[in-house]
Amino acid sequence: MKSPKTRPMWPVSIGNTQRLGVADYTCSTRVFFVLGLEGKTAFVFGVASEDSIAWAICKHLAAAGVTLYLGYQKRFMSRVFKLKDELPAIGGFYPLDVASDDATKEFFTAFEADHPGKKADILIHAIGFAPRACFDRPILFVEDEDINTAMTISANSLQRCLKHALPYLNPGSSTVTLTYAASNRFVPSYGIMSMAKAALECWTRELACHLGPEGHRINAISSGPIRTIAASGIPGFDRILDHVEANAPLRRNVSQEDVAGATLWLASPLAAGVTGQCVYVDAGYSITMVPETIMN
Ligand code: NAD
Repeated sequence: MKSPKTRPMWPVSIGNTQRLGVADYTCSTRVFFVLGLEGKTAFVFGVASEDSIAWAICKHLAAAGVTLYLGYQKRFMSRVFKLKDELPAIGGFYPLDVASDDATKEFFTAFEADHPGKKADILIHAIGFAPRACFDRPILFVEDEDINTAMTISANSLQRCLKHALPYLNPGSSTVTLTYAASNRFVPSYGIMSMAKAALECWTRELACHLGPEGHRINAISSGPIRTIAASGIPGFDRILDHVEANAPLRRNVSQEDVAGATLWLASPLAAGVTGQCVYVDAGYSITMVPETIMN
């Protein structure tokens, strides 16, 4: 099973010279400034480990010159703090629990206390969770409480985060959330999370329309399957990875870096005309229906 960890270099024009733009996060030359993100600030919610998609997004945003403020769940505190030294662009960490309104607000209260008057330009919502029982029980018998938890954390939290973030967002901000194609097609074992992702994509459209007149953009990226802590809770996940690798048009799975690259674009002025969309970063898997392998 291939799990690509690096991206190829590509030419980037800067003035009259051409250099190689590369996901080399130690490079002091900010080759990504062509994206216009130098000096911008981002709130990033959803880093739990170095495998988190949000961590790759942090590395890409940092390489583009963005200062980062991370919201972390207390249960992952030690893992998240270990990553701190890898990115000087991290300006601060504050606890965040989107399970309640108050605990979500605490992030912004703590941020404001340390940085009065400071605002962000980018919000990354890379949060998902469903209780174990959502996957262990047949979908017909999942309890209301577990369904509500999955919906609150994985879908409604986008509204909750934006509601509290709005006073701390500069005009013309860009929010990116992460979804999965089970929102509109059946994926075995994804269960209640399919409903949560459908609701998350609906929140994306609703919030994009609500905040669009003020110039704020909200988009979703539908990622192909990637091995992370959250994904490890999905029964049969390795078999889904194998299936996608064999059948996606690009004949591979996507990496965290693939998703981070598209996020960087959506966060940047290059995507200034894009809002309310769900962009698929899945090696093309979502455009297929009958696998080519049936012809073998
Ligand atoms: P991850 O486990 O690294 O990240 C999930 C994050 O959600 C963690 O940082 C966790 O702390 C956070 N979270 C959970 N409950 C929270 C709460 N109550 N308050 C605050 N934060 C909370 O896994 P990941 O795969 O990087 O997941 C990021 C997002 O990407 C999720 O929305 C996930 O559904 C989505 N996604 C993942 C895949 C995949 O295959 N890994 C595919 C498509 C979409």
